[in-house]
Amino acid sequence: MSDRLSVDSSVCIGSGQCALTAPTVFDQDDDGYGMVRPGREDGAGDPLVREAVRACPVQAISFQEG
Ligand code: SF4
Repeated sequence: MSDRLSVDSSVCIGSGQCALTAPTVFDQDDDGYGMVRPGREDGAGDPLVREAVRACPVQAISFQEG
């Protein structure tokens, strides 16, 4: 199993904290909602991913470490 990162778009409020905190892994879509950059669903080994998970004000980011 590998690490798995996702944003729950039904919870996200589009604050942009994830993309600010870990910009190599997260981006914002055209409506401002957080998204995982394509191909980065494994977190890309970026230690900032944990920071981004914590930074999200509505806990919309899940990171399952496998
Ligand atoms: S930090 Fe959370 S609420 Fe803000 S854009 Fe990212 S996923 Fe959405």
